[in-house]
Amino acid sequence: MIDINNVSKWYGNFQVLTDCSTQIHKGEVVVVCGPSGSGKSTLIKCVNALEPIQRGDIVVDGMSVTDPKVNLNTLRSRVGMVFQHFELFPHLTITENLTLPQTKILKREDGEARSKAASLLERVGLAAHAHKFPAQLSGGQQQRVAIARALAMDPIAMLFDEPTSALDPEMVNEVLDVMVQLAREGMTMMCVTHEMGFARKVAHRVIFMDQGTIVEDCAKEEFFGNPQARSDRAQQFLSKIL
Ligand code: ATP
Ligand code: MG
Repeated sequence: MIDINNVSKWYGNFQVLTDCSTQIHKGEVVVVCGPSGSGKSTLIKCVNALEPIQRGDIVVDGMSVTDPKVNLNTLRSRVGMVFQHFELFPHLTITENLTLPQTKILKREDGEARSKAASLLERVGLAAHAHKFPAQLSGGQQQRVAIARALAMDPIAMLFDEPTSALDPEMVNEVLDVMVQLAREGMTMMCVTHEMGFARKVAHRVIFMDQGTIVEDCAKEEFFGNPQARSDRAQQFLSKIL
């Protein structure tokens, strides 16, 4: 589903990713963790073709980010992305936030887009807030809207970049619960998160990055169950966050 092959990337002279490779299969949930500045956000932006790569290749559902014939807007519209900051359209209601991308990008009829929006808002527990504007919602509610908006595009995979790290602690679980439900329904997910409870619950694999390289890429059971087999850097990192 997502093939990352020997990817290297530079920002100017600075090499941010070095020879990163991993495969994410359909229905797999992969958690990406690692210290600040290790390249986690950059790697997932490359998967969504929001950042170009200079070496290697990333193929998402048969579409290569380096193939000039591939329409990158099509690729981006097939992969849902949820960031740390919700980035909802502030001047649109919650319903409109969900319908606009459907009608504009997927050319759906308004009625179909509205019914899709309504069922997704129901699913994330926000049906009662459909008529409000983003600023009238809490951070956790806004982030659930952001997830629903991404799901409205019928994505083949979802990318998350620290979706709970900007939230007040009491709102973290309502967002994680939606993500857990999504994982259990079989969504292919690549999640940058330091929520190790989430990783233990639903991840199939954990990737640990440091200084632009993938240092660990192993089954969740192996990652958490056999810490002494992990690299020093991963052990150090885990000892700080667990
Ligand atoms: P964090 O945990 O803090 O979110 P991260 O693992 O997501 O960190 P990235 O945001 O991918 O790390 O950044 C990796 C490195 O690339 C950092 O050293 C960062 O300063 C640098 N970097 C990120 N974006 C750019 C950019 N647009 N231009 C230049 N350097 C950048
Ligand atoms: Mg980041």
